[in-house]
Order: sequence, then C-alpha cells, then structure tokens
Amino acid sequence: MALICPTPAVFLDKDGTLIDDLPYNVDPDKIRLTPGVAEALPLLTKAGYRLIVISNQPGVALGYFDQAALSQVEQRISTLLAGHGVRIDDYYWCPHHPRGTIPAHTAVCSCRKPMPGLILRAAQEHAIDLSRSWFIGDILHDVEAGRRAGCRTILIDNGNETEWLTSAERHPHWVVAGMREAVNVITAADPFYRLARRAAAPRQFERPCAECSDG
Ligand SMILES: [Mg+2]
Ligand SMILES: [Zn+2]
Repeated sequence: MALICPTPAVFLDKDGTLIDDLPYNVDPDKIRLTPGVAEALPLLTKAGYRLIVISNQPGVALGYFDQAALSQVEQRISTLLAGHGVRIDDYYWCPHHPRGTIPAHTAVCSCRKPMPGLILRAAQEHAIDLSRSWFIGDILHDVEAGRRAGCRTILIDNGNETEWLTSAERHPHWVVAGMREAVNVITAADPFYRLARRAAAPRQFERPCAECSDG
C-alpha cells in the first residue's frame, strides 16, 4: 500500500477574495485578480500549499448560466495566475440553491457554504491535512465552512460581509484588510518560513560560546 503524506492547503473563496466580485459573472474577459493576489499567492506555492478554490455558484440553480460555463472561469483564473507562477490545484463549485429554478440543482445540499461539504471532498481527493490548512474568504459563511472542516480561517474584511451574524463557528481566527495580509498571517505561522527567517538572521556568535553546553 502506498503511503500518501497529507499536505496542507489554502482554500480560497472566489468572488471578492481571489477575483473582483461581479455577481453571477462567467465572462472570462471581466475577470480580474484582487489586489495583492499576484504578489502573495506565490509565497504559498513556494511553501508547498495546495491551492483550492471553493465557491458557491447558485447562478446555476437560478438558471443564469450552465455549470459548463464555469470551466471557462477556471481557465481564465488559472491563466491569470500562471503568469505569476501560481497553480490552482482544483476548483470546487456548489451549483445548488434551495429556491432555484432549475430542478436538477434546486436542493438543500451539504456543499453550499457555510456547509463544509466541498472542503471535505477536496481534502479526500487531494490527501489534504485539514488541521494544517487555511480558509481565506470575505464573508462569515466562508469562515463557518472553514471552521466546520477543521481549518484555520482568515476573513478579508473588504465590506462584502454586511450582516455579521456571529456565533462561535463564524468567528474568524484572523481578520485582515486584504490578500497580502492574509498570506502574511499564514507564512508567519508556517515552519518553512520560520526556518528561512532563522537562516537569514544575523548569527549571535561567530565562534561557539564557551558558556553554552551545546556550543
Ligand atoms: Mg466571496
Ligand atoms: Zn451544493
């Protein structure tokens, strides 16, 4: 039996977090990365995180677009990020809505955030260690989904959360202004970057210190 070592992931909400929030947009030409994404995400790739997009797409259930239209959204985002050396490992969409107009997608499901279904599926399919993983989003539904899956959560407070219905499950571990700050939180907690910082720090002793038993 092959042993698979679980890796950490950073789960990313799409609208308002990874790209500018244009409600129900599936036109690739209108997709823009949010400020900081191009500079910050390469740091996560370098540290070995899987990057996985987790997004509610009720526009499918509401009949605004077909699920197939989401593949061009995936392609566009992947192309934009590839230019910065970043690879999105996978995209997971919830096409449902409890009050949809397309019967096949009208349902109360376990994959629509704040439920953690998509995160749990991604974790299984990509051998992800959820306890070392993070969820970055811009509303409290993202935080709740991340917490329910056992991840640490970062809320980008960019004005998209307006209701602030709070509970223990919806309490973000960190609240930050943007993607750069979110990635700073993750790298500050990550052993890879702690070691890199220690290696770069000036050495205290040129020679082994005689006072110290271990030199
Ligand atoms: Mg969002
Ligand atoms: Zn769903």
